[in-house]
Amino acid sequence: MGSFWHAFADMSAVEANGPFVIDRAEGTHVWDESGKRYLDATAGLWFANVGFGRAQIAEAVATQMEKLPAYSTFGDYSNRPAEALCDLVSELAPVPNSKVFLTSGGSDSIETATKMARRYWQLVGEPERQIFINREHAYHGMHISGTSLAGIPANAAGYGDFLEEVEQVAWDDAAELAELIHKLGARNVAAFFCEPVIGAGGVFPPPEGYLKAVRQVCRDTGVLFIADEVITGFGRCGDWFASGRFDLEPDLITCAKGITSGYLPLGAVVAAPRVADEFYAARAGMFRHGYTYSGHAAVAAAAIANLDIIESEDLLGRARELESELPAALERLMTLDVVEEIRSGLGVLAAVQLDPDRLEEDPALPMKVVAGAREAGVLTRALGPGALQISPALVTSANDLEEMVSGLAIGLEAAG
Ligand code: PLP
Repeated sequence: MGSFWHAFADMSAVEANGPFVIDRAEGTHVWDESGKRYLDATAGLWFANVGFGRAQIAEAVATQMEKLPAYSTFGDYSNRPAEALCDLVSELAPVPNSKVFLTSGGSDSIETATKMARRYWQLVGEPERQIFINREHAYHGMHISGTSLAGIPANAAGYGDFLEEVEQVAWDDAAELAELIHKLGARNVAAFFCEPVIGAGGVFPPPEGYLKAVRQVCRDTGVLFIADEVITGFGRCGDWFASGRFDLEPDLITCAKGITSGYLPLGAVVAAPRVADEFYAARAGMFRHGYTYSGHAAVAAAAIANLDIIESEDLLGRARELESELPAALERLMTLDVVEEIRSGLGVLAAVQLDPDRLEEDPALPMKVVAGAREAGVLTRALGPGALQISPALVTSANDLEEMVSGLAIGLEAAG
C-alpha cells in the first residue's frame, strides 16, 4: 500500500480493499486502470460542470504557465489573468459592483467569508455581532469555520469545540430564523450561511419562497446573508448563480468547484459593496488575510477558459433543460421498494433517498448500493441521510441519463 492518505476515508478499509484508481476521463465518463468505463453521476465532487477532456482549458493553462505560472498577489502585486477573472466573475455575479477575493477552494472561501463578516462588523463599529447561524444538513467545508458551521453532526464530532458562536436553525423554516435572531438579539448576530440547494447534506432544494423569506429576515435585522454557492455556482442551477435566479443579492457569495470545473483548484468570495466598501476605505487599513495562491495566474486562466465554454455552449440553458429531464429519468427508480423518494427539481441536482426502515436495518445499505452501481458502470456517492448523490456534468445527454438510471437501478436492486 502506498502513502496517499485519502480524504474522507476510513484508511483501514481502503488498505484492506485497495484503492479504486481513476485513470482518465472524457465528457461524462471516466475509466479505471483496467479500462472499465463508468458514467460519472456526480461530476467528480459536484465540480466537472463542462465535463472532462476540454483541450481548450488545458491549452489556456499551458500557455499561461509558460509565460507566468503564478506570482504573489499580496499587497500591490497583481497579474492580468487574476484581474480579468475577477472582473468577469463580478460581472456574472448577481451583485452589482461586487469585488472578488480569490482563494484555493470552497473551504478557504468559507474561512474567508467568516473572517470578512467578523471584520466587517468591527469596521462598522458593531464588534459584538459575532454569532453565525447555519442550517440543519448544511455543509460548508472542512476548515475550522466550516467544521463549526456543519449541519451534518458527524462532520463536527470528534474534535471538541472550535468556533463556539454558532447557532443552528431548521433547513426549511424562515420564521425560525427570524425568531432565533430576535431571541439572540440582532445586535449579536454576524451572518447567516445558506446553501441555495443543500448539497452534501442530502440534496434538499429550498421550499417555495424560503430563500426570498430568509433573505428578507437578514435585510430586516441587518444580519449578513452569505450564500454558499460552492455547488450551485457557475451553472448548476441554470443560472450563473442560484442567487441570481432567486434575486437574493447576497452580501457575500462563496464559490469554488464549477468556477474551473475542477480543472485546477480555485475558490472565490464575491463581496457586495456594503461589505467591500468598508474594507476598501482608507481608514480600514490592511486586511490581514489571503493565501499564497489567491490569484494564481494559471488557475485564473483555467477559470476564464471554463467560463467561456459555459457561455459559448449555453450550458446554463442545458442545465435548465436537465432540471426537468433529470427528475423525469430518475422517476423510474421510485418503483423499487428500497427507494423512499427522489429529491430534485432545482438545477442539475438530485438525491435518491433510500428507505429509512431499510437504512435502520442495515446502515451499510448506501455503501452497498454505491458498490453495486459501480459494478454496473455508474459512479455515485452516499450522502448524509442515506441518499445517493446525483449531480452529473451540465453536458449530460439523454443517453447518459438512460445509462445512469439503468446502472443505479442495478445497484439498488442488488442491494435492496
Ligand atoms: N461549501 C459547500 C456548499 C460545499 O459543497 C463544499 C464542498 O463540497 C465546500 C463548501 C467546501 O469546498 P472544498 O471541498 O473545495 O473545500
